[in-house]
Amino acid sequence: MLFKCYCYIIDKRGNAMNDTKKIFETYCDFVTKVTSEPSLDIDSLKKSIEKIQNGSEIDAPRILTAALGLSSESGEFTEIVKKIFLQGKPADKENVFHMKRELGDIMWYWVTACMALKLDPTEVILENQKKLEARYGEKFTVNQSEVRAKGDL
Ligand SMILES: [Mg+2]
Repeated sequence: MLFKCYCYIIDKRGNAMNDTKKIFETYCDFVTKVTSEPSLDIDSLKKSIEKIQNGSEIDAPRILTAALGLSSESGEFTEIVKKIFLQGKPADKENVFHMKRELGDIMWYWVTACMALKLDPTEVILENQKKLEARYGEKFTVNQSEVRAKGDL
């Protein structure tokens, strides 16, 4: 299917391009239909942010900053690993230093998330340790990784 779409896109004849355009118009309509109001409308997004900010303990601006930052900084870290393993980037001290810098950025956003949720960072780490010990005991196994107890997130 992807190859077929690619063929439509590179074909310079009008009909093929129109087919591609129709496919994307139809798909864009579908995407819009299955998108929430706060993702489509600024006033709805503002209401959602205010509801969370005023109706919970969560610091809305800070958790949005943390969530966006964690994702982007994790991507920066992953890109270095990708380039080392797949694109010939040297596995040298310079790139380890670069990964160290990205891990620091991740930590900054991770602590921001803890503060936004009023969580003690030490307790978050201990909770993770408790969860993994309950899941694996002393040693990792594939079965325990794949077959989780109810509520084991
Ligand atoms: Mg960074």
